[in-house]
Amino acid sequence: MTLLLGCIADDFTGATDLCNTLVKEGMRTVQLIGVPDDAAPPADAEAVTIALKSRTTPADQAVAQSLAALAWLRRHGAEQILFKYCSTFDSTEQGNIGSVADALLDALTGDAAGDAPPSIAGACPAFPETGRTVFKGHLFVGDLLLSDTHMRHHPLTPMTDSNLVRVLQAQTPNAVGLVACDTVHRGAEAVRTRLDELARSGHRHAILDAIRDEDLRVLGEAMADRPLITGGSGIALGLPANFRRRGRLAEAVDATALPAVAGKEAVLAGSCSAATLGQVEHMARRHPALRLHPQELADAGAIEEAVAWAEKALSTDPILIYASAPAEEVRAAQEALGRARAGEAVERAMAELARRLVEMGVRRLVVAGGETSGAVVQALGIEGLRIGPQIDPGVPACTTIGAEETLALALKSGNFGGTDFLTRAFEVMP
Ligand code: ADP
Repeated sequence: MTLLLGCIADDFTGATDLCNTLVKEGMRTVQLIGVPDDAAPPADAEAVTIALKSRTTPADQAVAQSLAALAWLRRHGAEQILFKYCSTFDSTEQGNIGSVADALLDALTGDAAGDAPPSIAGACPAFPETGRTVFKGHLFVGDLLLSDTHMRHHPLTPMTDSNLVRVLQAQTPNAVGLVACDTVHRGAEAVRTRLDELARSGHRHAILDAIRDEDLRVLGEAMADRPLITGGSGIALGLPANFRRRGRLAEAVDATALPAVAGKEAVLAGSCSAATLGQVEHMARRHPALRLHPQELADAGAIEEAVAWAEKALSTDPILIYASAPAEEVRAAQEALGRARAGEAVERAMAELARRLVEMGVRRLVVAGGETSGAVVQALGIEGLRIGPQIDPGVPACTTIGAEETLALALKSGNFGGTDFLTRAFEVMP
């Protein structure tokens, strides 16, 4: 059993982001899509992240899913649990960060001996490298307080208060304390002492300041013995070193290395974001490309035509099939079909094409679009991803777990990636 760190993420792309941080820090990491029924994690996985969709679901559902993930991770040997949420602390007054953290902490410490020190979970969404800092409990995005950013107007999780002690306190009946940066800057021992003091005085959560990436490493070290940590992907920076200090994790391993996957190459693009449109144009100028029109996809023949085109076009050269279109064309399709039906038609087509491309020998696949990726992952029966090297910030190359054929895969949501992303991805993939 090699599983050391078990992570529970409240959304899919956040889970990938966390895995990316962990592999960079030398932990072999696997991302699982939902809680597996009974399958064991791959034998060489040192960290497993279970990706849930629990950020904006009703709190009781988020708690139930998170507890199921926790039970699975503990059953397979995870020694420490990280609950990962967004670096902008996306949540509502009803939760789900506080409610899930409470439930996980109760489950993890409920069976501790009566004289064990009371438990407290550190909470830190900071990631200074990406502009997220926490100072005296206040979350900044770049130079702005969180509540002065676009997050103020987020449709599902509007963040109108930057004081995270207050924000988390509104989501839990338990007391929330603060470990401020003057303590963090005195080092891991000072943080440990402060956390013990807070726990003894009845606090169950503590917001942790971090204004530099070194602070995250200090916090990681200070939390080596805590059963639960909550935060953004940044807080994972300092955790692998704890296992290394104890001789549980190899010193210098390239955890991004994945076994090579040979086969034909294809891109499916269903994202209409500005970045994806530029990437599609860039690739279409250099490689065989076919555009799909949602208005034509209702006709079953359209998919067969695309399949016939792909059969001819597939060679050693990657091919591109895309529905991506500029805003006015998307609007026209939505007016003709209705917004939901236009989106569904494209997603269904991409899912079917992914299956057919694999039948034709495609083993290296890039998918552009968050929803599009979800549809393709589901259609191919993919249960998890081994996380490999980063193609662009936030997008690692992966190999699949659970599908009939192992694929090399890159899933890119909306605005991620440089102009040449779609072709460069194949150079980075294993
Ligand atoms: P992103 O990550 O950029 O948000 P998504 O795949 O999540 O991309 O969402 C894009 C949505 O737009 C999908 O539901 C997709 O099916 C839909 N779509 C793609 N192309 C078109 C089009 N030409 N007209 C209308 N809807 C489209």
